[in-house]
Amino acid sequence: MIEAYRLLDKLEREHSLSLLEYKTLIEAENDALRLYAANKAKEQATLIYGNSVYVRGLIEVGNYCRNDCFYCGIRKSNFNCDRYILVEEDILHCCKEGYELGFRTFVLQGGEGIYKKDFVTDVVQKIRSEYPDCAITLL
Ligand code: SF4
Repeated sequence: MIEAYRLLDKLEREHSLSLLEYKTLIEAENDALRLYAANKAKEQATLIYGNSVYVRGLIEVGNYCRNDCFYCGIRKSNFNCDRYILVEEDILHCCKEGYELGFRTFVLQGGEGIYKKDFVTDVVQKIRSEYPDCAITLL
């Protein structure tokens, strides 16, 4: 059991363990160890973010996907899903509205394989030039 605590300390310091060490940690899991890990995670979060709340403007750009992850509502084999794809004008409009509302991070999220690379590059460049003070994330 002491080994598991030592491994959590090591994970905190080095941010990684070997596969065998992860296995040891998982096998030792119990309420006290979970609490120890949760407290460490909370300390790190507070150290990095303080008690601030960061709000991100999530833009769901489309719900088509070429993949078929079973748990996912927009997987390709879900025929009960009403599909859509935003065009560039829609995405830029969302950014404009979001910016006016105070968002400074835009997250463009959608299924895989919706857009061609050139389209994404072009849209990201337009967002970047229009809102240079904003972060852009692609999911
Ligand atoms: S959107 Fe993501 S999770 Fe859903 S099917 Fe596509 S790849 Fe899988």
